Amino acid sequence: MTAQFGSADLDRLRKLAHRAPRAARAALLRSTALREALGAILAAIVEEATPPAVDLATLDQARRAAGRAAALRAFAGEVRVAWSVERSGLDLITHVVADAAVRLLESLPSHRLRRCDGRDCGWLFLDTSKNGRRRWCDMATCGNSAKARRHLAKLSARSRRPRPRP
Ligand SMILES: [Zn+2]
Repeated sequence: MTAQFGSADLDRLRKLAHRAPRAARAALLRSTALREALGAILAAIVEEATPPAVDLATLDQARRAAGRAAALRAFAGEVRVAWSVERSGLDLITHVVADAAVRLLESLPSHRLRRCDGRDCGWLFLDTSKNGRRRWCDMATCGNSAKARRHLAKLSARSRRPRPRP
């Protein structure tokens, strides 16, 4: 997927938000609601539960709004659905995310969706490893800290063991 908007669009959104702060707050609330709904839907999928109807309704509403704002645009050598500041206004990012989320959910290999085992993490990730046994969102952060904790626990258990008397 190519970027749906660039820095010029973001500058225009900033100016729009500055001129209409109440509309910007309302757009932010719609965006936050979509994020929360996506989190709940994916959390349900990872736990093999049915996603809550209220969250599906939020995503569906965002999807429909995105669909109304979408337009076919010609790019060099191709035509595709795209969003613009002119049509989406302050909801530009929300529209692009809603569309991407629906496409993700439709093609999601749900048996590969995992919740990170890292302490205080809980991030969801797609396990694309060959053996399908990845446990952490990122080995460099959660994976290494889990290994370090296990190592320290092992050392600590060893030091508590009674030492043989001479
Ligand atoms: Zn993690």
